[in-house]
Amino acid sequence: MIDFLRYFVFASIAFITLYIWKHPFQHRKIQSKNAKSSQFRKEFLYSVSSVIVYTTITLIVLVFRKYGYFKFYDRIEDYGWDYFLLSIFLILVIQDFYFYWTHRLMHTRLFFKAFHKIHHESITPSPWTAYSFSPWEALIHGMIMPIVVSLFPVHTFALLIFMTFQIIRNVLGHSGYEMFPSWLLTNRILKYINTNTNHDMHHQYFRYNFGLYFTIWDEIFGTIHPDYEETYKKITERESQIIQEEVEIGSN
Ligand SMILES: [Zn+2]
Ligand SMILES: [Zn+2]
Repeated sequence: MIDFLRYFVFASIAFITLYIWKHPFQHRKIQSKNAKSSQFRKEFLYSVSSVIVYTTITLIVLVFRKYGYFKFYDRIEDYGWDYFLLSIFLILVIQDFYFYWTHRLMHTRLFFKAFHKIHHESITPSPWTAYSFSPWEALIHGMIMPIVVSLFPVHTFALLIFMTFQIIRNVLGHSGYEMFPSWLLTNRILKYINTNTNHDMHHQYFRYNFGLYFTIWDEIFGTIHPDYEETYKKITERESQIIQEEVEIGSN
């Protein structure tokens, strides 16, 4: 129920804010095309199916937890706050690696049709694309939870923070608008943070940008789109152009 609510609340907020109201990122639209309303309907139905898959995995994990399986712990003091924060970061890093490789595998001829085709039917992503997966793909993504709780001790609250973060990040990554600052890719470290433009380009061109939170694996394995930085620059500098024009008009 919580899985269900969390996703639909965030996706609805993003959808209403970005597609119905006028927001400060209007000029940062990544693609000039708009998604059709028939696409939203289809994505919504597949999202319901994905949430059912995730909830089933969560229930199975909870049942096993009751019998002492998996490394959950209840008292934060047992490992301390440093470990608590580190465990959230570790989950993100592991999921990032897991996502990159399962994603690349799902792009092979053997798996694409059965696993990943549904997600790519959305060439122009929307907040509802974030969970628009075939049940098989949802199963692959959902497995990250049992994987991490098999590897190291995880507090339930750390898992909740992680789940909430990944939903927000995924919904924004598919929002169709770029929200990161224009200088992000010029910073030597921050440039490895994945942007909305990066994943949007994955939906447009298929063969590049397989990463989730970071672009490190794409950089290492040469799968970053050759025009990524240029495209990001164009989209994010529209803002400064508009401000510049306003300043010029104001000073005239
Ligand atoms: Zn893909
Ligand atoms: Zn996507």
